[in-house]
Amino acid sequence: MLNWNLRKIFGTFASCLVLAMFIEQGFADEAGKVFRAGAATSNITPPLGEMIVGNWQPIPATNVHDELHARCLVLDDGDTQLAIVLCDNVGIPREVFDLAKQQIQDATDIPKSHLLLAATHTHSATTARGKSKMIQDEALTAYQTFLAQRISDGVRRALAQLEPAKIGWGSAQEPSEVFNRRWFVDDPALLSNPFGGVDRVRMNPPRGHKSLNRPAGPTDPEISFLSVQSTEGRPIALLANYSLHYVGGVRPGDVSADYFGYFARFIEQKLNARDQFPPFVGILSNGTSGDVNNINFTDAKPHRYGRYEKMAEVAEKVASRVYEAHQQIEFHDWVDLDAAATDLELKTRKPTEEMRAHFAALDEESSDTKRQGREAIYAKRVANLDKAPDTVDVPLQVLKIGDLGIAAIPFETFTETGLEIKAKGPLGKTFTIELANGSYGYLPTPEQHRLGGYETWMGTNNVQLDASEKIVDTLMELFESLQQPAQ
Ligand SMILES: [Zn+2]
Repeated sequence: MLNWNLRKIFGTFASCLVLAMFIEQGFADEAGKVFRAGAATSNITPPLGEMIVGNWQPIPATNVHDELHARCLVLDDGDTQLAIVLCDNVGIPREVFDLAKQQIQDATDIPKSHLLLAATHTHSATTARGKSKMIQDEALTAYQTFLAQRISDGVRRALAQLEPAKIGWGSAQEPSEVFNRRWFVDDPALLSNPFGGVDRVRMNPPRGHKSLNRPAGPTDPEISFLSVQSTEGRPIALLANYSLHYVGGVRPGDVSADYFGYFARFIEQKLNARDQFPPFVGILSNGTSGDVNNINFTDAKPHRYGRYEKMAEVAEKVASRVYEAHQQIEFHDWVDLDAAATDLELKTRKPTEEMRAHFAALDEESSDTKRQGREAIYAKRVANLDKAPDTVDVPLQVLKIGDLGIAAIPFETFTETGLEIKAKGPLGKTFTIELANGSYGYLPTPEQHRLGGYETWMGTNNVQLDASEKIVDTLMELFESLQQPAQ
């Protein structure tokens, strides 16, 4: 029976040859699209003695508590490659990321538009910034050059690890570790600003203070994540995203990746991915946390944590939620990839005549109270903005991974903007990585600008007041411009 069938098939073989070849070609195209992934980490720990920024006054690094990394993930759908890199730093200027992108583009097939490079926003790394966020550096420092090279080397190493892979994504909720740090308070003494005016909201008000009224904005409890595994199920990398500024609690002078580094270790343990080769890469990216930190302001007598204890606790919680949700996700053998990027021109904020007069009058006084210190800092920041170009081109980018969208914004973005992008994103699910591809300061919404507070002050925020709206509109246009998957 079988032989007869085979003879019959072979008998009609010649007449069907052309059709068969055509069909074969079609299958070959489909079958030829193998999804692959690779991941690698580059050590980006700075030399001791460099300046740690992220607090009011920079201090020199005197110890390394834990190494800093650029954590790199490369995805390949057979046609298109994307790379996502998270660096343990408070904020990296565009010049540094652009140098890394140029090096990657020169050495690989990945175009710049398909490279999403971002900082985690740990506050215990040394500076990778230049003198000003709004004035491009003419020459990069030794650490900036080193950082760019380590990022590009990490992407090239992740490319060298590419292997057939499956991919899945999902999300979990952890509302207990996110607090909006901007509060309406009933005491005007808490609302003064360095411009001689009075705000309506206060950043980081005193804990448990009787004048606390209500938070001025929302929080986003979602932890989004993306997981890649070998076809046999060996974990390759997991990229998570949570909208929490950082945790802190380091010894002064310590270099640390904060809870982002602990998360990478904990998720590796939970996925049972230790001591494998190529090494598993856990990555925690920062969502939209410009106005959200880890302080419960209504708690007047908080638990006293030891150094590093709190960040480990928060990272453990976030990794646990991701691990639980990870058990439920569906893995895909293949998804299509795409990316789009553009520059958006924004106006630089410039001081008014009143502001100039206010700071000029201050120069003539000699008292040295704390408030004067704060005003002196802003006098300098505003003078710096005055020297900056009138406009700045900020890089915006979107990635498409199947029906998952990732938006990239080079600012410390407010949570309500992140929630808006999640709601408006045209793909099945969307999240935002902030401080991506550059670092230009805080990005309050126009409504939050009206309320005032630290993040809105000129010199903390550097661009036109409706920038967040223009950015969301541009990101949505970029998402719409992406190709539809081939049928
Ligand atoms: Zn910060």
